[in-house]
Amino acid sequence: MSGIAERIQSVVASLPETARLVAVSKFNPAEAVLQAYNCGQRLFGESKVQELTGKYEVLPKDIEWHFIGHLQTNKVKYIAPFISLIQSVDSLKLLKEIDAQAKKVNRVIDCLLEIHVAQEATKYGFSIEELRELFRARAFDVFENVNVVGLMGMASNTDDEVRIREEFRLLSDFYQEMKNSLAPQFRELSMGMSHDYHIAVEEGSTLVRVGSFIFGERVYA
Ligand SMILES: *Cc1c(COP(=O)(O)O)cnc(C)c1O
Repeated sequence: MSGIAERIQSVVASLPETARLVAVSKFNPAEAVLQAYNCGQRLFGESKVQELTGKYEVLPKDIEWHFIGHLQTNKVKYIAPFISLIQSVDSLKLLKEIDAQAKKVNRVIDCLLEIHVAQEATKYGFSIEELRELFRARAFDVFENVNVVGLMGMASNTDDEVRIREEFRLLSDFYQEMKNSLAPQFRELSMGMSHDYHIAVEEGSTLVRVGSFIFGERVYA
């Protein structure tokens, strides 16, 4: 069994029934995705449009692709025909474009709203207050070709597990608040990466996005 297969199996075995693994294959070649596919993994995450469309073309069509990176509005059209979940919606403008492109290909695209709780100033996303206001104003109801099915978030990039847990709990509490009131359709809370997915799962994550632990450290060309 390859190292990739063993590591995927160890992550999957550690997840509760309520959480799924998104194998984050960015910066890794299609052959690495295929190795993971051959041991049963069907759900993959990518963060660059061109890289994703290249892999989509050459890999088996029963792969479920999630987009997890910053998405430029002018590139939505390239992934709209096949993407199964866009996890990283960070503006209303982007959601509007996804709706328009989904309509063109006669699809309804599932989306997560990216929410910003980490300390780093560079992270994209909405704040909790912003989203609460937008849901109160029913700002997402006008889009017929997108389904807002939950939230995606990242904790701060730190070794401080207490702080990571606090940030995940903040996300999880807000997710539950919305699910119990203005967004009963919520069914996905995407949190957790290689170094913190075990904490995210304890705090209620339904999708963990694990890359380097499975595929090895990425080499940025
Ligand atoms: C790259 C990436 C991941 C995976 O990170 P690892 O530390 O390699 O597991 C998860 N989520 C997002 C949004 C990413 O860009």
